[in-house]
Amino acid sequence: MTRSNLLNLRSLNSGVSWTMSNILSVDKRDLQNSLLPIAALVLLYFSSLYNYLLFHSLAEIFSICIAITTFSIAWNSREYMNNNYLLFIGISYLFIGVLDLFHTLSYKGMNIFTDYDFYANQLWIAARFMESCSFLIAFFFLFKNRAMNSRYVLIMYVAVTAGILLSIFTWKVFPICFIDGTGLTPFKVYSEYVICVILLIDTLLLVRYRRFFDDAVYKLLIWSLLTTIASELAFTVYISNYGFSNLVGHYFKIISFYFMYKAIIEKGVKTPYALIFRELKLSEAALAEQNRILENLASIDGLTGLFNHGEIYRLINDEIERVKRYDSSFSVIMFDIDHFKLANDTYGHVFGDSVISSVAQIIKGSIRSVDMAGRYGGDEFIVVLPQIDMKGCLSVAERIRMAVEKLVIREGFVITVSAGIAAYFNGLSDDIVNTADERLYRAKQHGRNRIVND
Ligand code: GH3
Ligand code: MG
Repeated sequence: MTRSNLLNLRSLNSGVSWTMSNILSVDKRDLQNSLLPIAALVLLYFSSLYNYLLFHSLAEIFSICIAITTFSIAWNSREYMNNNYLLFIGISYLFIGVLDLFHTLSYKGMNIFTDYDFYANQLWIAARFMESCSFLIAFFFLFKNRAMNSRYVLIMYVAVTAGILLSIFTWKVFPICFIDGTGLTPFKVYSEYVICVILLIDTLLLVRYRRFFDDAVYKLLIWSLLTTIASELAFTVYISNYGFSNLVGHYFKIISFYFMYKAIIEKGVKTPYALIFRELKLSEAALAEQNRILENLASIDGLTGLFNHGEIYRLINDEIERVKRYDSSFSVIMFDIDHFKLANDTYGHVFGDSVISSVAQIIKGSIRSVDMAGRYGGDEFIVVLPQIDMKGCLSVAERIRMAVEKLVIREGFVITVSAGIAAYFNGLSDDIVNTADERLYRAKQHGRNRIVND
């Protein structure tokens, strides 16, 4: 054996042991949910003590109901189920159920089909062939990327099932499986072994391609296949249609159907819902983010990125509340670009816009992160400085005024700003913005490019 082969074998071994420990872990909730079915299985056993035909009919009806429900869920959720393998098997279960129904009706003692003795076992073996082969064919659809045509699959199963029923009931060409008194025919025994081998291949393929399945679904499928194999093995050793191994076989069959049903529920109902809820949550988050952006946009001036008129008023009111509560103070600066009309008139509005946004950048770059700057309108700006008195405010305003003076957007075009400043402290009844605006007006009157603080 080469080194790489050895490595492969080792990784396969560890994979298998991991897989087994994973499969064996049982959820507490699963156990609770299983209590009712377990109780039903116990009652079923008591029915076998009373009348075996009753047990057989109940056991089969039980698994037929699970088969039909499995199909119904798979079929109705086929648009959400993104696993063709499971959908294919889900469809096949209806026809397995149909063959099992005929098997039940033709069982020894039912006296419905009285012309022939062999129907029940033939139908049983046909159903088991259909079941094991469906698991095998399903892999073909697992590897296909495009969506499976469920309608064609359904039609194919109708045709195959009709063929089986005709070959048993009408043409009578299906090999005989069981002869009362003599026992199982070689065909039946070998068929059960062949079915077991097919099921084993199904299981190995499933282990090999487990990456295509969710963990929960994979576990359920493995359990379903293993119990089907156990059921088949029980049927290979029975000697009578009413024997103990027949009873055990039927139990395993019900359990295997139940696991399959759970796998379909997991993929056809639970996962799609989880997916829908996840998508809803995602779109909810996207909506919240959108709202946040919109709210942001509603408070920001588009040209400068500073707060807009409404927002800066809200912020000033917040500051007033804070001053009242903590007995602190704050100050504001009201700026206006000097002779701004000239910039617009001489070089156009686009140039005017760039002057406005350049001044805004200077203002933004001259204040601390706790300070707030807004565009009051046109070429007017407001700066709010929390905890800052007139002296500190004057120096910030002066710094901005000087920085604007140095701003060169176009050679030979000097830009200047005038400002009015005002401070707010507890007990002041004046409108601070109004006061700053009046002082700004005075700055303009006194020759511009200056700051007025009283
Ligand atoms: P003053 O020194 O007295 O302030 O003179 P001024 O020319 O700057 O006069 P005023 O402040 O009243 O002029 C504001 C002008 O700004 C009026 C308007 O046409 C212009 N304006 C307002 N908003 C915008 C804008 O978003 N972009 C541009 N380019 N111009 C604007
Ligand atoms: Mg102006």
